[in-house]
Amino acid sequence: MPECPACQSTHTVKNGKAKNGTQTYLCKGCGRRFHPEARPIAHSEATRQQILDAVHERMSLRGVQRVFGVHRNTVIRWIKKGPVK
Ligand SMILES: [Zn+2]
Repeated sequence: MPECPACQSTHTVKNGKAKNGTQTYLCKGCGRRFHPEARPIAHSEATRQQILDAVHERMSLRGVQRVFGVHRNTVIRWIKKGPVK
């Protein structure tokens, strides 16, 4: 099951289809409904770049999570995606 964009929990279940036919999911962790295709807009590109810079300066992911309030799984995903274009 896809990861919840709000709380990064993988404890999610299928929750029927939206009107446009895309599968929607329900997070058992926070109760939020979401489409796995939809991009969360919680963090701006500037914030993302700042965090990636911090990681390059060898800040730990736990440190990033504490300072920026961004879940380390989210940061790992950004690292895999590469720098902001
Ligand atoms: Zn959730």
